[in-house]
Amino acid sequence: MSTTSFKGIVLNSIDYEDNHQVLTIFSDKYGKIGMVALGVNKPTSKNKYALQTFNLSEFEIFKSRQKHTLSKLKTAVLIKDHFEITKNYDNYMYISAIGKIIEQATLDRQKNFRIYTILLNFLEKINLNENPFSNFVLTLFKLIQFFGGDWILNQCYRCYRSYKFYRAFNFEDYGLVCPNCVREDDSIQSAEFVSYVMKLKTTNLETDEIQIVPIKYHIYLVKHLLNYYEQTLGIWNPILEQIKEKEFVKNLKNV
Ligand SMILES: [Zn+2]
Repeated sequence: MSTTSFKGIVLNSIDYEDNHQVLTIFSDKYGKIGMVALGVNKPTSKNKYALQTFNLSEFEIFKSRQKHTLSKLKTAVLIKDHFEITKNYDNYMYISAIGKIIEQATLDRQKNFRIYTILLNFLEKINLNENPFSNFVLTLFKLIQFFGGDWILNQCYRCYRSYKFYRAFNFEDYGLVCPNCVREDDSIQSAEFVSYVMKLKTTNLETDEIQIVPIKYHIYLVKHLLNYYEQTLGIWNPILEQIKEKEFVKNLKNV
């Protein structure tokens, strides 16, 4: 086996036979990659901190020839820990939900530097406790494009015309609806909410911009995004279920 090095974020680790672990890493060079770390649970192991979940580390591995067989860890050196995320239950839940989605929905050794960057940015923000809930919702939205998702935000999905303003965002067909196409049975949101949705694809919101977005917009969005992951993308896990069942998510009816 040849050796190779890369940076990566630990998504998951499972102990086996006392001293060993099987790790899932999301890396800059290979996307998701699985590996065996031998002897890592021994008290003398030097790799321990580097292998903790959600830490960013530099890995050197003996890379297996085939995608479905595990590579073997040679060394791991910690680049940046994210220990602050463990101090807040909700924050840990948000990052775990994103980590789980990426683990579930990406293929082994399929490089995707954009997913790597999105995950790393979100980790940094959660670690700093910077608008954790809003950043969670925006990260959920950013990821849908990689799993076959698409919301129609540049034109009316019924007449295909572009407008400056739309009347609603339809959360059954996931597209904007213009004033001419709106029907009596459509559920309508406020003009402010609709114009915020229009900007979702185009802007990378900075911290001070996120802070002025009403929190209920993000709650309303998370409710529908979770539904979209479950019903349309077919990506679901117990952590997403837990967020969906939160009272503040269930109780918000409209914006
Ligand atoms: Zn229309």
